[in-house]
Amino acid sequence: MTAGETPDGTPGGAPGSAPDGAGELPWERTTPANVDLAAFRAQFRLTESAVPYMVRASGPCPRCSHAIQATDMLMELDMFTSRQDFSPELLSEIEGEANRRTRDGRLTAQREYRCRMICNCGRPHGGRPVNEVDGCGAAFVLVTPGPPKR
Ligand SMILES: [Zn+2]
Ligand SMILES: [Zn+2]
Repeated sequence: MTAGETPDGTPGGAPGSAPDGAGELPWERTTPANVDLAAFRAQFRLTESAVPYMVRASGPCPRCSHAIQATDMLMELDMFTSRQDFSPELLSEIEGEANRRTRDGRLTAQREYRCRMICNCGRPHGGRPVNEVDGCGAAFVLVTPGPPKR
């Protein structure tokens, strides 16, 4: 892995080497460019015909190196607004919709998928605005290949 570069030009050294507490990076909204794809794990939810419609990704934050995870939908959700609060009822509704769309050809398998990630490491990064996710502020899109063909 390459050493920390801050693509937005902020001062600061390599990410993630600080010990707990006072040494943590301060919160800052950044878009890290040095995402180490190989360090991320992606799990997919599949329709009845094995088309991915939802991805859950986890791995080290490219800014602070703490463990983060995110869930993202792989289809447009016109009628569902919230994207992080998936109750079992909502999940089965989404799955039903994904199955319908796969059947009528509106949802098809892609070569790669995008998962929107916001650092949610939960570690103390100073200066975090109260309405922001509990993390270091890094936000990026993880581009990942689909699940292996069986
Ligand atoms: Zn962190
Ligand atoms: Zn982070």
